[in-house]
Amino acid sequence: MAWANDYRPDRFEDVLGQNDSVKQLSQLILRGRVVRNAFLHGPRGLGKTTLVPIYAKALNCSKLTELGSPCGECHRCQASSTYLFRYDVPKAPNKEEVQAWLKAMYRPDKDFVRTLFFDEAQAFKAGAMEVLLDPLEEQSPNISICIATSEPWKLNAAFKSRFTLDLVVQPLSLLESVVLLERVAKRQRLEYDRQALATIARLKRGYARDMVQALEQVSIYSKVITADAAKAVLDLEQGADLVSYLLALIKGDADACVAAKNSWRATPAEQIVLIRAFLLSMFYRDIMRQNISINSIMDEMIEGRDEIIAALKTRLGVETNEQLRPYFLSMVEFWFSATTDRDEGALNTQMLCFEELVQSLSVKMMAPVLPEIIENASEKQSSNIYPSHVSATAPTLKGYLARNDIRDIFNRSSFYVQHYGEHFNVWLTVLANRRSGTNDIETSSAFARFCAGLAELTDNKPPSAFIAIPECIDGNFRLNVIARFPNLDGAILRREIDVIAEKSNCNTAEFRFDAKAVKRAHQTQWSLVRELCAGFVDIGGDERGDLLENLKVPKNVRRTPNPIARPRPIFSTLLSDEAIQRECSAKMGFLSAFDAEEWEHIGGDWELEEYKDRRDEIDNRSLMLADIRALFEHEPDKLALEVARLQNGWPERPEQRQRRWVKNRWF
Ligand SMILES: [Zn+2]
Repeated sequence: MAWANDYRPDRFEDVLGQNDSVKQLSQLILRGRVVRNAFLHGPRGLGKTTLVPIYAKALNCSKLTELGSPCGECHRCQASSTYLFRYDVPKAPNKEEVQAWLKAMYRPDKDFVRTLFFDEAQAFKAGAMEVLLDPLEEQSPNISICIATSEPWKLNAAFKSRFTLDLVVQPLSLLESVVLLERVAKRQRLEYDRQALATIARLKRGYARDMVQALEQVSIYSKVITADAAKAVLDLEQGADLVSYLLALIKGDADACVAAKNSWRATPAEQIVLIRAFLLSMFYRDIMRQNISINSIMDEMIEGRDEIIAALKTRLGVETNEQLRPYFLSMVEFWFSATTDRDEGALNTQMLCFEELVQSLSVKMMAPVLPEIIENASEKQSSNIYPSHVSATAPTLKGYLARNDIRDIFNRSSFYVQHYGEHFNVWLTVLANRRSGTNDIETSSAFARFCAGLAELTDNKPPSAFIAIPECIDGNFRLNVIARFPNLDGAILRREIDVIAEKSNCNTAEFRFDAKAVKRAHQTQWSLVRELCAGFVDIGGDERGDLLENLKVPKNVRRTPNPIARPRPIFSTLLSDEAIQRECSAKMGFLSAFDAEEWEHIGGDWELEEYKDRRDEIDNRSLMLADIRALFEHEPDKLALEVARLQNGWPERPEQRQRRWVKNRWF
């Protein structure tokens, strides 16, 4: 594709969307052509290979622009082939090959600053990059080593740490994308409407090279670049036909299946290519949850995936995506060796065989399937959220915390870190004093008053929050609380708590707060959460050991409480169902290691990483929305449509969001 190469910017100010990287590089130039070894990383097609030549030329240009860009005209700019050397990677080079190249290239030049550029560094054989360690360490004033990679996690940390400049390239925002496409469209003298450009930008997710290629494709197909033309070319209409065909097939609706095939304007060969690619894409992305690109069009086809998965689950009576794995595998395998270069009759027969296979999928055929989790009745109740619990009528049944309560506590604590970047740092135990009596009901009303008092401290002061659980040990009632309060002065906080306790006929029996434990905040929170849950007793009897063991609840804090009435956790407003739903709306659900049963990752250090990515994603999304509002300010109909389309494109599940942290990722 030619256009993508035509629109490589040759000045910093023309690079769209990479403000941070551009700023860092141009400042190095303006500070006196400072030579740095640069590590550039980020997805493919975003301009990593654009930035390096600009920097290399700027290090040598004799007539820099005000912003530190190369002029592009002086003889030194024209002579870039004498100082910018790019290691081409035809196959995976080994250590010796890189060493030989380096020996020839890594030598100072009296006239020019050299740049040695290794693109797609992940393709080098293991260890091949190590020959660069010494030169990197040296950071020559005359030679810049630049490495670009779209898979930085494949390179070892020691290697990456040697670079004196770390540059992240990012997809373009919607507005930047439209600006880029508009620039190309104008230079190509295309007739276009901006909605079409926005469609391309959205489908190609801000990936510069892909967007320009897509625009070129659309222009070949249609004289005027309209949204409809863009969509048609990008095969979305085909996608809708594909989805209705698969849905009809899975639901066993023969008539709908025939109708879908008839309305699908594609030859059997084309249909098979799409079915195969789509199933494979779903298999990897939705079932295996791996971010592997199968086929860019199929990967972009987000609509319909969840519907197909839901239909398959209903049909087979399974609950999780993981359980669908063997079925998907058999469908994918069916097409694995199929070729499409046969005559139409043979291809139609193949389709019929595939349909036969899908019809015959059943649970029995695919042993072993995970047994369904049997929940006991108490787990099916929704958790009681403060303050509804507080005003609950006198209960009659006695019991223990349910597994679902433990789940709620762990998930909400995890959400607390992921969303607010905050940690619980206080442990409280309060007892009901004699005046409030010793029976369940009087005690729980004293505890309820105490919680209401705590809520006055925490509510409307985010990120303050608490979780409380009433408990009875050897006949003595107590309320255990973990919290983070706005007041960080231990002595004052203690007084505030004591006042609340006194007003609610309780005594503070235990108060632990370490204001200095900032560095251990994460460990502190999770040891508090574990201690809070250590009184979990499974009514069935056999699950207790397992769950507490899985959650790594230390033996020395485990307790065996007496059964009491409604021992439900009480969550402060910030951690209530409503608040969490609100913060997770617009497809910003949080990750749950508990639900994934990834016990090793509960309370892992990924949560703070996720916090950063989550903040960025939320910011990005609001920027994208703002961009759309700006673009379609005067066209309310289109605005609503574009907003809906944008939101449709956001992945349904939190695991599918783009994120930077990769270490300790379990999904
Ligand atoms: Zn120049």
